[in-house]
Parts: sequence; C-alpha cells; structure tokens
Amino acid sequence: MCVSKHCNHAVWLHSASSLTFAGPAANGKPWRFVLLGAPGIGKGTQSELLAKRFGACPLSTGDVFRAAKNVDESALTPAMKEALSYMRAGHLVPDQIVIDVVKERTACLRCPGGFLLDGFPRTVSQAEALKILLQQEHLELDAVISYELPVEQVVERISGRRICSKCKKSYHTTSRPPKTEGICDDCGSPLLQREDDRPEAVRVRLAAYDSKTAPLIDFYAKEGKLIRIACGDTPQETFERTLQSLGQNEG
Ligand code: AMP
Repeated sequence: MCVSKHCNHAVWLHSASSLTFAGPAANGKPWRFVLLGAPGIGKGTQSELLAKRFGACPLSTGDVFRAAKNVDESALTPAMKEALSYMRAGHLVPDQIVIDVVKERTACLRCPGGFLLDGFPRTVSQAEALKILLQQEHLELDAVISYELPVEQVVERISGRRICSKCKKSYHTTSRPPKTEGICDDCGSPLLQREDDRPEAVRVRLAAYDSKTAPLIDFYAKEGKLIRIACGDTPQETFERTLQSLGQNEG
C-alpha cells in the first residue's frame, strides 16, 4: 500500500501511461533506497516502516507480478504470462522481462517523495540496468540497505508469513499475529499463505538469492552505497538499527 501523498500506487502495479504528482516532497529531500535481503527476511515490513518515516513510495516488483496474477489471462502480455510461470515455480523472472517492467514504470522513480525499491534489482545485470535508468533521469540512490539473517531463521520467518487476501497487509503467525487467527485486523478478510512461500518454492528462492542476489552486495559496496543491517528480533529493532546507520534516528 502506498503511503506517499504524491501518487497513486496503482500506477506502479498496473503501469498507467501517465502519472501526475500531487506536488513536491512535503518532508524535505526525497529519499531513494534499494532494499536487499533474502526472501522472508522482513523487507516488506521494513519497507512499510521506512515509507512512513521518509514519505517515500514502496515499489516492489513482486507486488507487480502478484497484481498481474489477479488480472484476466487474456489481458496479460506474453512477457507477463511468461514472468508468472517463472514466479509460480519459485524461480526468478528473466532479467529482461523485469527490467522492461521497471522501465515502463520509470515515472514512479521520479516520485517527488522518493522511492523504496523492494525486490529489484535482484541480479547484477538488473543493478546495471537500474544504474543507467537512474543516470538518464538524473536521480541518485541514497543507500542500498542489505538486511541479513542466518538461513534457518529465514526459513522459520517465511513459513509463518501470512498475507491478507484483500488489502495485502502482512502478518506472521508468531512474531506479528493478527488479533483473530487467520483474519486481517484492518479489513476482516481471510489471511493466506503466498503460493511461493510453500516449502518447495522457498528452497528454490533461497538458492536463487544466494547465487544471483548476493553478488549485488559487492556491486553496491563498490558503488559506496551499501549499508548492512543485522536483523533484530523484532521489526522495530531492525528499523531502529537502520535509522541509526542512516544517521536519522534522532526524530
Ligand atoms: P518477492 O515478493 O520480491 O519475493 O517476489 C516474488 C517473486 O516475483 C520472485 O520469487 C520472483 O519470481 C519474482 N520477482 C520479483 N522481483 C523480481 C526480480 N527483480 N527479478 C526476478 N524475479 C523477480
């Protein structure tokens, strides 16, 4: 859910042809972040917390593909149909398809509130494509935040994750449970386990993260943008460590 006052998040999810911004950033400078971390580590939750704190727009490529799953098959482009078949199996979508999806949404990168890219880039070639895209737009990343946690704990976090079938709010059976089991606190809809959070798909996704995404850590370290955050026991603890690393924990 977009918390930025500047735009309509449907533009990111469904790629509208034009985007009108509501005005310049209300809270000073626009912050532009990339979030890295294995699937299930809690990036989505950190993205929500950072979005509230900095007014930046959370942009998740996984959300774009999940939104496409709810669209009538006949309305999908051949590239999007191909992307969904990779996603269902837990594999990464081919680079060129993802890069085209982000390029179609370049307007969102210009958001006056800034942005939080979650789930993109996932490979070095996606990172190179993003670098060129940002240079063309005269935009600069403030930081690339890498969230880190031992593998066994990542698996535990993913298997407990539940998402609201309607508003997409995220829960965890033990660390962030809803007030009523299986029901969203906000809209009362049933909570579901994501198709790609099933154990078979999770193993494939973690292997893909290790082989394809971990090299991004070196890429962004060389660019001088990398901030490494050891995940805490609670989302709030992780968030506070992040603010501290950004030198933004004073208010
Ligand atoms: P996420 O919610 O970020 O874990 O993404 C869910 C799924 O969408 C992934 O397992 C991939 O199949 C696909 N996906 C999302 N973003 C990307 C990306 N940047 N590159 C390749 N595949 C992606």
